Amino acid sequence: MNKQHNEQIPAGKNALSRKDPGEAPHRAWRILIVDSDPRVHDDTLEALRGTLIANRPLTVLHAYSTAQAYDILDQEKEIAAVLLSTTIEAGDASLHLIKAIREELGLQDLRIILHAKHACNIPQIDAINRYDISACKTAAELTPIELHAALSAAIHAYRHIHAINLGRDGLNMIVQASADFMTVHGLSRCAAGVTTQLAALMGISPEGLVCAQEDIAEHGNLIVIAAAGRYANQISQPLTTIDHAGIRDLLQRSLRERRNLYAEHGTTLFFQGNGYRDVAAYLESGAHLDHFARNLLHTFCTNIAAGFQNAALFSKLQTIAYNDPLSRLPNRFHFVNQINLKLRSPERNKYSLALLDIDHFAETNDALGHNLGDRLLQAIAQRLKSSLYDDVIIARTAGDTFGLLGPSVHLTPSNLTGQFQEPFAIDDEEVLVSVTIGLLNLSDTGNNGSDALKEANIALKRAKQHRRGEVSYYTREMGVEIQERVKLLQALRHAFDNDKLFLVYQPQINLSTGNVVGVEALIRWRTDDGKMVPPGRFIPLAEHSGLIVSIGEWVLRVACLQQARLARQGFGHIRIAINVSVSQFRHPRFPFVLRRALENSGADPRCIELEITESMAMEDADTILHTFAKIKKTGITLAIDDFGTGFSSLSYLQRLAVDRLKIDRSFINELTTSERGAQIPEVVIQLGQRLGLQIVAEGVEEASQAERLRELGCHEAQGYYFGRPMEVPVLMEWLNTHQVQPV
Ligand code: C2E
Ligand code: CA
Ligand code: CA
Repeated sequence: MNKQHNEQIPAGKNALSRKDPGEAPHRAWRILIVDSDPRVHDDTLEALRGTLIANRPLTVLHAYSTAQAYDILDQEKEIAAVLLSTTIEAGDASLHLIKAIREELGLQDLRIILHAKHACNIPQIDAINRYDISACKTAAELTPIELHAALSAAIHAYRHIHAINLGRDGLNMIVQASADFMTVHGLSRCAAGVTTQLAALMGISPEGLVCAQEDIAEHGNLIVIAAAGRYANQISQPLTTIDHAGIRDLLQRSLRERRNLYAEHGTTLFFQGNGYRDVAAYLESGAHLDHFARNLLHTFCTNIAAGFQNAALFSKLQTIAYNDPLSRLPNRFHFVNQINLKLRSPERNKYSLALLDIDHFAETNDALGHNLGDRLLQAIAQRLKSSLYDDVIIARTAGDTFGLLGPSVHLTPSNLTGQFQEPFAIDDEEVLVSVTIGLLNLSDTGNNGSDALKEANIALKRAKQHRRGEVSYYTREMGVEIQERVKLLQALRHAFDNDKLFLVYQPQINLSTGNVVGVEALIRWRTDDGKMVPPGRFIPLAEHSGLIVSIGEWVLRVACLQQARLARQGFGHIRIAINVSVSQFRHPRFPFVLRRALENSGADPRCIELEITESMAMEDADTILHTFAKIKKTGITLAIDDFGTGFSSLSYLQRLAVDRLKIDRSFINELTTSERGAQIPEVVIQLGQRLGLQIVAEGVEEASQAERLRELGCHEAQGYYFGRPMEVPVLMEWLNTHQVQPV
């Protein structure tokens, strides 16, 4: 900074006005004289001595060259007007300065008054328009009165333009903040911005404005709803956080006594709430506020007060929308938002997402009762909250699933399972639970929180598939696999719609006579390029998607038609076994679908057997029992497939009135290979004899196996040793060369 620049006019000496003691210096209008002639500076000062414009004095800055003027304008703030000599330097120097003021420095509010020695030094009209020059006067014209008039007009213009621009900035801030205006945070930001603008507009220091009202949440307490400068951080905080006792007292009293109060350090204005809570605004020097400023402040305060009331309601709504009332943890929505935030942070790769699913919660819930089940969930939430690190976010994402989001170093499998080592005390009961965990590193996912949660769920399902109590990390391969499954499912739908599925039939043999007693219908899918997709791959997909209901209906229809056709061709005693999935069985229309398939085909119900797997039979016992009781009347028989792999209750099997047990292939494999291999088939066969059930052995591949089974008393067998699953023409040939035993 140069010498002249510092030469600001001190009060009483060069100052041109009477100054109120204690008045902030920037309350004076600042003008800059740009002239190389020191006499012009002196004369101007003299002419303006004592001048007040809009009740405010003037402060004059001096520049003796255009370069110096440029520096001052670049560094000083809020200069209202420049008095510039057109002949300060040779050529167009003054015009260059004006151009720089408007274009480089971007000072649009600043008013420019030109004065020229002679009329011929006055610039062209278009320059005057282009650069928004307020006045051009020759030396002869510029009498002290003229100067005063020109300056007064320029400063009034400056004031209005400046106010408009400030208002526009304030408006911008409000618009920017309005996206989250319904939150206290957004409101605070907005209030801080507007208060700053307001302070500037009213010509008070931004430090000197604090607005307070009664806290909506805590009756009797006051909160700061708007403040500027030093106190801006206190917005939405209790009034007690303002460190100035004088300000606190004045605001409290004003609200209590419902009136304006004046003190030496400032003024407090009371605004009645009009349906909202009352507001009090503290101003460092309120005495100078004119009517306009008071109105402005009133409007602002009541709006902000209303905003705070709305924000309080909104935050209540948010609490409801984003929190789980049972566990008092964030819910799924909130959790997804948090994941989204984390995914956008630069340190996302250091974070993990875990889903903890309580094993067998449904059973525990049934055993404990729902009330205690809820308490168990609360206890788990509480333990996770208190024993995990603070930077781990915990949410309840589904009935018995908790979601955790935090640094990967904290969300290790051992850390997580470690939380469940000790039992939970529910009333006097000690409940020990285990969890299955799906984990996902945020580095392994895209940018979408809800996708990330889905992927963690994939990992969780994978862990459950293996064994409960397991932990599984999500890998991109899992995602690829899911995509492939989706593609396969689409292809399956297409194949089904275009009749690309067909049935094959595998013979079942009576072991004591060697005769054929039945066939099992097995589905086949040959793709357009001739490849076979094994049912072990597409049936689970069809089950998962619900497509199995339609496919199963088709299988029933075709198999029944085939039974009727076999009967017509002289094989009327051959039983056809049809595999039925649990979702098919559960479907309320199933008995109807079955009856219709029987009626439409003319099949003999006594020669139709349904196979359901053991695990499935146990899964939904009541429904199966109910449905089967209905269809049993038709004469249809029931076989339990894959017997020995599940956990059947024998009494339940009896109630189901099962006709046949199919010993799972895995036991047949071991039959002749190990000494103890015959144990399970032996037990099953004895069991069957005792319960009056027929036993079928599956997957018999060798004569020795068939022989051993016969010795053990097994009734029937099925497997490659006797015959592979065959398409109908091959089957017919096969049947013609094999003996068929009447039932
Ligand atoms: P499953 O009901 O246990 O069917 C027996 C499976 O063992 C069949 O496999 C059959 O081809 C195979 N198999 C038969 N004998 C032998 C043998 O000696 N050795 C060996 N290693 N395997 C033998 P497939 O046809 O691949 O069917 C697999 C599973 O797909 C079936 O198991 C059944 O659960 C399901 N499935 C097949 N067709 C249908 C259907 O129409 N509906 C439903 N819901 N499921 C079906
Ligand atoms: Ca089967
Ligand atoms: Ca089986």
